[in-house]
Amino acid sequence: MSSSSINSSPTCKCGIEDLVKISLTSDNPYRRFYGCCNYPTNNCNYFRWIDPPLNMEKKVEYLKNMNEVLETKNQALEKKNQLLEKQLEKKVEAYEILIAEKLEMEKKLRMCE
Ligand SMILES: [Zn+2]
Repeated sequence: MSSSSINSSPTCKCGIEDLVKISLTSDNPYRRFYGCCNYPTNNCNYFRWIDPPLNMEKKVEYLKNMNEVLETKNQALEKKNQLLEKQLEKKVEAYEILIAEKLEMEKKLRMCE
């Protein structure tokens, strides 16, 4: 056996080859790496980057896009929240009216006794 070639596909200690995964962390968005598909259920922590580190520009671009998505979601949730608060207010008002009517009826009933 000769010395291992640099070009051979990596193999973790589980013996699985070509474990290409894609990072979705904000530090390394869409950066490909090799990793064990059994991780973290076994003790194999095989890990090696395929793509070079992202430059700052790309990271900033990714985070800006994420921020826009989150802002849109936040706006939608705020609108929904306002609607629900209005609905709740109306229900509380209706409930208070019912309570007042009930008290009024009880008073009248006592007067008839
Ligand atoms: Zn493994």
